[in-house]
Amino acid sequence: MNQPPSLDAPARAQDAVNHDRLQASIAALAAFGGRADGGVSRETLTDIDLASRRHLVDQARALGCEVMIDDCANLFFRRPGRDNALPAVLTGSHGDTQPVGGKLDGAYGVLAGLETIAALNDAGIETLRPIEVVAWTNEEGSRFGPGAMGSSAFVDPSRLPGYLGSTDKDGVRFGDALQTALAQAPGLPRCAMQRPLSACVELHIEQGPVLERAGIPLGVVTGIQAVRWFTVSCHGVMAHAGTTPMDERRDAMAAAMPLAQKLYDYAASQSATQLRLTLGRWQVTPNSVNTIPGRVDFTVDMRCLDDGVLDGFEAFLHAQVAASQGAVTIERFFQRAPTHFPRPMLDLIQEAAGRASARAGLPAPLALTSGAFHDAMYLADHCPTAMIFVPSEKGISHNAAEATAPRDLFLGAQALAYTVTALANR
Ligand SMILES: [Zn+2]
Repeated sequence: MNQPPSLDAPARAQDAVNHDRLQASIAALAAFGGRADGGVSRETLTDIDLASRRHLVDQARALGCEVMIDDCANLFFRRPGRDNALPAVLTGSHGDTQPVGGKLDGAYGVLAGLETIAALNDAGIETLRPIEVVAWTNEEGSRFGPGAMGSSAFVDPSRLPGYLGSTDKDGVRFGDALQTALAQAPGLPRCAMQRPLSACVELHIEQGPVLERAGIPLGVVTGIQAVRWFTVSCHGVMAHAGTTPMDERRDAMAAAMPLAQKLYDYAASQSATQLRLTLGRWQVTPNSVNTIPGRVDFTVDMRCLDDGVLDGFEAFLHAQVAASQGAVTIERFFQRAPTHFPRPMLDLIQEAAGRASARAGLPAPLALTSGAFHDAMYLADHCPTAMIFVPSEKGISHNAAEATAPRDLFLGAQALAYTVTALANR
């Protein structure tokens, strides 16, 4: 029989997180692809990304971790527990950046995971379950599409073959870049994809303005929004702008503009649901100054945490199409259901983040949803999963100016250490 886990271990792990060590490790990783403007350029599986991975391997080994890699070159740093037959608790994020990104998007989650392990070492805490820190491959999707390849392939390896032919702007195949990465990791044991995990927690910068505006340092992420994309096509008849009387026109733009306004009005009427509407891409045919538009196509991006709200919006859109008597047609070309993180995970993060905030004399954590996709979205299909957010200054990310106050980065790592330790003793 194992010893009963120490009840105060999560608090002791939280208190052992080291502010300066975390800052130093963020600065050290940011040197890989570091730019003069303070940003980072470290797209997935580039030489600089591979060098940064070797750096992370060295850091993890120095902390006593075992290092493993899987078929999608996801890197796992494992701190053994007392019972290593039990599924591990996973934390971490992605190591890659946009072509021009910041020091924190992804990297922070990985490094705070390693800081959690350092804190556990310092506090002399042995957990029941092993803890693993992951650096996912290609979350950003900027060099090879789609994004979140590593995490989505981990939870469903049948996706991986479909990713291998994806090419970057120089014609390099993802499959070849992956083979190079795996070949440069000699001696690392290959671990199985889709293996059981007991839970997953991802710590990430918010990449939006909510926490900063509220003056709150930590966010409990309740879920990730659903999204649906449509193309709306308005059909008219091209004709001369000067000779066609106004009452004899079939002007596609004259149909499109009131329809767009109706969609904005509907979205405004649903503002309490946090429905988000973007009509982002417009194509006018023939796009000529003196021809009545014969056709207008525009895209609809609708997002909400509540799929029912999107059902309602889609029904409203279909009703407009029906009323147009053939003048408007629509096509849905992408959708993703919402992610709802499980209540017990949210309660634990609330407790962990609440303790860190209270001890710093700061306001209690805020529950919020993620407007962006994250690796945790896929892990939520695999094991109990949740996310912690820290503020992004001015809501900026995917930009060299991306920043978070060191105090908030410290508090986020403290919340993570508590959460991971508690999960690892369950
Ligand atoms: Zn990210």
